[in-house]
Amino acid sequence: MAARHRVVIIGGGFGGLSAAHELRRAPVDVTLIDRCNYHLFQPLLYQVATGSLSPANIASPLRTILKKQKNAHVLLGEAVHLDAANRRVILSDGAVDYDTLVIATGASHQYFGHDEWEEFAPGLKTIEDATDMRRRILLAFEAAERESDPEKLRSWMTFVIVGAGPTGVELAGALGEIANDTLRRDFRNIDPATTRIILVEGADRALPTYPPKLSAAASRMLERLGVTVRTGSFVTGVSKHAVTVRMGDRTEEIPTRTILWAAGVLASPLGRILEAEAGANLDNAGRVIVEPDLSITSHPEIFVIGDLSNFSHQGGKPLPGVAQPAIQQGRYAGQAIAARQRGQKFPPFRYHDRGNLATIGRGAAVADLNWLQLSGLPAWLIWIFIHLAYIIEFRNRMLVLVQWAWLYFTYDRSARLITGKNPLPLDL
Ligand SMILES: Cc1cc2nc3c(=O)[nH]c(=O)nc-3n(C[C@H](O)[C@H](O)[C@H](O)COP(=O)(O)OP(=O)(O)OC[C@H]3O[C@@H](n4cnc5c(N)ncnc54)[C@H](O)[C@@H]3O)c2cc1C
Repeated sequence: MAARHRVVIIGGGFGGLSAAHELRRAPVDVTLIDRCNYHLFQPLLYQVATGSLSPANIASPLRTILKKQKNAHVLLGEAVHLDAANRRVILSDGAVDYDTLVIATGASHQYFGHDEWEEFAPGLKTIEDATDMRRRILLAFEAAERESDPEKLRSWMTFVIVGAGPTGVELAGALGEIANDTLRRDFRNIDPATTRIILVEGADRALPTYPPKLSAAASRMLERLGVTVRTGSFVTGVSKHAVTVRMGDRTEEIPTRTILWAAGVLASPLGRILEAEAGANLDNAGRVIVEPDLSITSHPEIFVIGDLSNFSHQGGKPLPGVAQPAIQQGRYAGQAIAARQRGQKFPPFRYHDRGNLATIGRGAAVADLNWLQLSGLPAWLIWIFIHLAYIIEFRNRMLVLVQWAWLYFTYDRSARLITGKNPLPLDL
C-alpha cells in the first residue's frame, strides 16, 4: 500500500489550525507543530493584560481541539530550520519529513531598529507578554500608592501606549476604565481617576486603517475615558523613566514608568529561513511574498499563510495582518492540498473582506463592515457577538461571557493579579 501523503503544518494559530481542520476528511496525514501546546485567541490578549480575563479563558490546548480529528497528530516543537531540498523541517530537538508544508508562524511587533526599547516598552503577543503587562500596570498603581515625591508620583500615574492601531486603542480604552471605574475605591493615598493615559501615533489619526469617520469616533470615545490621543507623533527614545516623542520639529520627554508597545510588524524568523533555503522573496517586514495559490516561487509544495505571508494579488496591497485573512488562507491551503490529492486543479486564493472591529471600552466600539460603518453601542454588541463566536471551545465561550457580564455590571476585573517573580522591594 502506498504511504499516505504527509502534510506538516508549522503553527497552530488561526491560519495553521484552519488548514488542519480543512484537511479532516482528506486522505493525508497531518502533523501540526507548535512551540506552545495551545491555540491562543490573540484578539483578547489585551483583556488578560488589563485583568478582565485569565490566560486560560483565551487559550485552548491544541490536543483538545484536534482530539477528534483522526488524521491529525500534534507535536510540541519549535521549527528552527528547513531543509527544503530534502523536504524536512528541522526542530530544536529533532526533524520531521513532509510532502507538503504549510508555514503559519505569524508575526510580532517591532521596535524599528531599537530592540533595546523592549525592556522598558513591552509588546503584546503571547500570554507571558500579557501577564507581564498586567504586572507592570498594577505595580505602577501600587508604587504610586506608596510614593511621596510628587514628581515621581506623576510619573507612576502616567501610562504611555505607543501605536494607535486596534491593539493600542483597546489597551488605552481598558486602562481608562481601570483608572476611572475599576480602581476607583481601591486606594487610599491616590486617586486613580487622575491617571494620565497618552496614546502616541505616528499617523495623523487613531486607527489609521479605518475610515476617517470611525477614527474620529474612536478618538472621541477615548477622550471620554481620559485618554489623550497624540497623532503625528513619533517615539524617538525610550528609557526606564521616560519616553521621548517628536511632533514636527518639537521634541518632548514624557516622564513615565509604564510604556506599552503596540506598534510595528515583524514577521516570524521562518521567513528569513525560507528566503535562504528555498529562495522565497520577502518584503520589508520580513513577510514572505506568496504566489496567487499561497505557495512560494519554485516550491509548489510549500504554502505560507497568515501574518507571515504577503499576498498582494488582490488590489496590489498586502492583506491586513488580522485573523480573517489567516483563517481564510488556512482553509484555502487545506482545500488546495486536498484537491491536489484528487488530481484536480484549484483556483487562486481570493480574500473576502468582512470588515474590521475595535473596542474602546464598555459599550463603545467601532465597526467597519464595508457596507455599514457603526460606532458606540451597536458596534460594541457586534464586537461581543463576533468575538464569542470565534473563541474556540464552548467552555471558554461561556467563561468569557460570564466574565464580561460580571465586568459590565460591577466594573470589577477579577483577574487583577500581580504574578511572576517577587516584585518587592518596589522600585520607588
Ligand atoms: C494583541 C493582538 C491583538 C489582535 N487583535 C486582533 C483583532 O482584534 N482582530 C483580528 O482580526 N486580529 C487581531 N490580531 C491579529 C491576529 O491575531 C493575527 O492576524 C492572527 O493571529 C494571525 O494568525 P497566524 O496563524 O498567521 O499566526 P498566529 O495566530 O500568530 O499563530 C502563529 C503560531 O505559530 C507558532 N509558532 C511561531 N513560531 C514557531 C516556530 N518556530 N515553531 C513552532 N511554532 C511556532 C506560535 O506559537 C503560534 O501558535 C491581534 C493580534 C495581537 C498580537
